[in-house]
Amino acid sequence: MQRLNFTLDDNTVELLERLAEKYYSGNKSLTVRAALESLAAHAGHEGWVITGYTPVVIAEESACHTCGETHDKGEVLYRPVFERGASSKALPKIPAENWLDCSHCVEQATS
Ligand SMILES: [Zn+2]
Repeated sequence: MQRLNFTLDDNTVELLERLAEKYYSGNKSLTVRAALESLAAHAGHEGWVITGYTPVVIAEESACHTCGETHDKGEVLYRPVFERGASSKALPKIPAENWLDCSHCVEQATS
């Protein structure tokens, strides 16, 4: 165990005290631990995350990987670029299938 020293503003101290009283019989260490575990679960896990897209002029009719809409030869679709990272959407493996998304789905995924 280690003793950590950090400064919290008044509102945060109040929140911590309120949560500690309500859920952890006043134990602030347990409260902070629960908050961090919850944050870690929310922030996601290690894996492969999409960090960008490369536009591709498709050579044959192709369907959007996400919405399934088909696009004609010559239209532009977007191939995701994967990098190692942590996210709630992280994939355990780089997908082996041909993955092309339409501009609409790329906009949705990145907004
Ligand atoms: Zn789509």
